[in-house]
Amino acid sequence: MSVIYQKVALIGLGLIASSMARAMREKGLAGEIVGHARSAETRETALEIGLVDAVYESAAEAVEGADLVVLCVPVGVMGKIAAEIAPHLAPGATVTDVGSVKRAVIDAVGPHIPEGVHFIPGHPLAGTEQSGPRAGFATLFMNRWWLFTPLEGTDRKALDRVKSLVTAMGANVDEMAPDHHDLVLSVVSHTPHLIAYTMVGVADHLRRVTHEEVIKYSATGFRDFTRIAASDPTMWRDVFLTNKEATLDILGRFTEELFMLQRAIRMGDGDMLHDYFTRTRAIRRGIIEAGQDTDAPDFGRAVPKKDE
Ligand code: NAP
Repeated sequence: MSVIYQKVALIGLGLIASSMARAMREKGLAGEIVGHARSAETRETALEIGLVDAVYESAAEAVEGADLVVLCVPVGVMGKIAAEIAPHLAPGATVTDVGSVKRAVIDAVGPHIPEGVHFIPGHPLAGTEQSGPRAGFATLFMNRWWLFTPLEGTDRKALDRVKSLVTAMGANVDEMAPDHHDLVLSVVSHTPHLIAYTMVGVADHLRRVTHEEVIKYSATGFRDFTRIAASDPTMWRDVFLTNKEATLDILGRFTEELFMLQRAIRMGDGDMLHDYFTRTRAIRRGIIEAGQDTDAPDFGRAVPKKDE
């Protein structure tokens, strides 16, 4: 594949940025990749493991002369970074972001973007519970959706160019209105994370079941909650603080359904429970058919050997 951007500046060098860097390098999509992260440790690691060609102490220095700038920091600091880099952006450059919430990022970043620079908000629906520059891998975006929420008057050519980059990294692209994005994501990602955090919190607080028992017998379901609940605390704090309305809406509906199921259990209404679980099973089948997971039992995990 050929070079799509001559100089890409990655602001934030964690899981998403490092996966982008690896994918761009593997496919030869960027002439040069530079980066900035808050800590010297992250910057040094990124350089040492060859994610980037150069690192800078400030985001402003990193974006000089870049034709693509990707904001890969937690949602809550996007506005501050945008204010810092704004005077240093090259005319005609594109600024995109990978934030998990779109309306708040648009409101925080948009006002800082100078005339002649294209701001194209985006969100890759791909990730893991790991963070940091070593956590990334080139295939993270393979067959995953990358949503763009273009603003009114967005330059189509600039949009097509950034789409061609993420497509070359293996992603499928779609466009959505920012508020709709935030609602959809609160259903498929944000509220499920909150529920996982809660379940793990409940197990932690319950004194009648010991901590050792929870860990020892976790393969029966709890373990799958703990994977999600191990996600980055800063990232997720920012997601809930910035996607407040949609999360509270979906959480309200979740609570109503939970009470309904609670009542069915209390009343011994087996038919209701059976019908409910039959419907939810069909949703899982749909996800597998759409190629967003495999139907391997236990999520395809290898069965541990007896002496492991
Ligand atoms: P991550 O691995 O925790 O990395 C975050 C990076 O941002 C780190 O390099 C960190 O630097 C840097 N950073 C934090 N605050 C900063 C500041 N004030 N100034 C400069 N750099 C700063 O995070 P990630 O998982 O890649 O997430 C990045 C973005 O992608 C978030 O907006 C998140 O919502 C979005 N996203 C995440 C996922 C996911 O599953 N993880 C999926 C899709 C989208 P230090 O290491 O020096 O602290």
